[in-house]
Amino acid sequence: MENCIFCQIVRGKAPDFRVYEDKDFLGFLDTNPQVPGHTLVIPKKHYHWVYEVPDFGRYWEAALKVTKAIQKACHPEFIRYVTYGVHVPHAHIHILPQGGIIKGDLSEIAQKIGQSL
Ligand SMILES: [Zn+2]
Repeated sequence: MENCIFCQIVRGKAPDFRVYEDKDFLGFLDTNPQVPGHTLVIPKKHYHWVYEVPDFGRYWEAALKVTKAIQKACHPEFIRYVTYGVHVPHAHIHILPQGGIIKGDLSEIAQKIGQSL
């Protein structure tokens, strides 16, 4: 979709802090993080809701790969997932490490998580 910020990120037309990419899915830091290491995983193709993503199992497996990298990089007590499609109408899984320790600006954190994949 032309005016969807996540579609623009997929096409490289909006700045992002990527931590994960495969042929169908992309993981990047939320630029307005609720916690350090707050990461979003999206399908590269536009779907409004998480449950509309055709390869639902592989989508969550991508989220799990990112989760394991976050565990290595941030050492959280636990990790929460939240799915929304309301503010940005493009499916996204929020990965929220709780009680973790990771310092740095967004690009440093993205690098640390990306290196932990
Ligand atoms: Zn989109």
